[in-house]
Amino acid sequence: MLVLVANLGSTSFKYRLFRMDGNGGEVIAKGGYERVTDYAAVIDDALTALQRDGVIASPDEIEAVGFKTVLGKDLSGCVMADQQVIAALEGFTAVAPAHNPPYAAGIAQFEKSLPNARLVALFETAFYQWTSPASYSYAIPSVWRDIGIRRYGFHGASHKFIAERSAELCGREDVAEIVRRLYLDGPQPVEGKPFRVISCHLGGSSSVTGIRNGVAIGSSMGFSPQSGLPQNNRVGDLDSGAIPYAMRTLGISLDEAERQLTKESGLLGLSGVSNDIRDVNAAALEGNPDAQLAIDSLVHSIRHWTGAFQFELGGLDALVFTAGIGENGAATRAAVCKDLEAFGIHLDPAKNEACRATESVISTDDSSVKIIVIPANEELVLAREVYRKLS
Ligand code: AMP
Repeated sequence: MLVLVANLGSTSFKYRLFRMDGNGGEVIAKGGYERVTDYAAVIDDALTALQRDGVIASPDEIEAVGFKTVLGKDLSGCVMADQQVIAALEGFTAVAPAHNPPYAAGIAQFEKSLPNARLVALFETAFYQWTSPASYSYAIPSVWRDIGIRRYGFHGASHKFIAERSAELCGREDVAEIVRRLYLDGPQPVEGKPFRVISCHLGGSSSVTGIRNGVAIGSSMGFSPQSGLPQNNRVGDLDSGAIPYAMRTLGISLDEAERQLTKESGLLGLSGVSNDIRDVNAAALEGNPDAQLAIDSLVHSIRHWTGAFQFELGGLDALVFTAGIGENGAATRAAVCKDLEAFGIHLDPAKNEACRATESVISTDDSSVKIIVIPANEELVLAREVYRKLS
């Protein structure tokens, strides 16, 4: 089955074409466009290029298109991308203004450009469908809850991949199979010992997720991707009382407060140096105290959420690092795992230093918690989910 994974940004369109066979898949073509103003033109250009290069003889060979949609109003899961999905994306444009409009437009355009393909949306919130009301509810009036304000959780494709791969690496094929079929069959009982994982997706955008028997129990991210850990330039968790106080005291509008919290906060806001942790690390090494504070604050927040989930899971079998910082940031991983031997977390410093963006176990042989680095591959995750849904 040929599956096109469409990655739509506010001014970009990237794609990968996969040949899928079971759980495996190979990329047979990829490409992208920047500064996009007309999705119809670039999608048609991409389809023409695939034919010109001999990858496909006709666009009809593309059986399915997958979209990693972020957040829908009253809709989640891995679902056929139809009018209902477009309406759900449009219903939450205000919460995800950079992500929802391009996906709504892109899905509508693919319906026209590839009328015979089946379109599938995998919401980033899908992995959190089975979290408990106690964990997803904010203590707000019912009228607020009625308009959809609750914790959703994000990076669901990445964390679900970690749930599956960590189970494989820890010899829990029973749990890996539950994860593979999760969006088809829902959570399943596990015989014997539970399998408990904490997945740390640390990149430009970061979140920590607790996973029991292949199913997420919660996320550090809540209603919007502005929450949880300090992000590259977004604030992360912030007391709701701070916003009216800052607006009144600084005399700024709601739009300006939102701009500062989404563009000038996070690692950039704290360090004053950069939104890229490599620059922040370099500045900290040169003695910049604000840069050091940004790093310490990120590590503090990762440990805060890791501790919360380890407690809630009632123990831990695997602690996983993924995404740009998680895969490459040996110093960040070491800081997160520091002095946690009492909780069964024993990092092997040499293995940690040696690991750069390759799948590796970086705990000591006698660590009761396996610490693992697993490279993210969100496009493959999407292609797999599309294939499973349609097979
Ligand atoms: P992602 O969102 O997964 O693409 O991750 C992007 C982030 O990964 C960048 O903003 C960097 O801060 C971080 N990153 C990339 N390479 C490295 C590296 N070699 N060491 C530390 N952090 C890195």
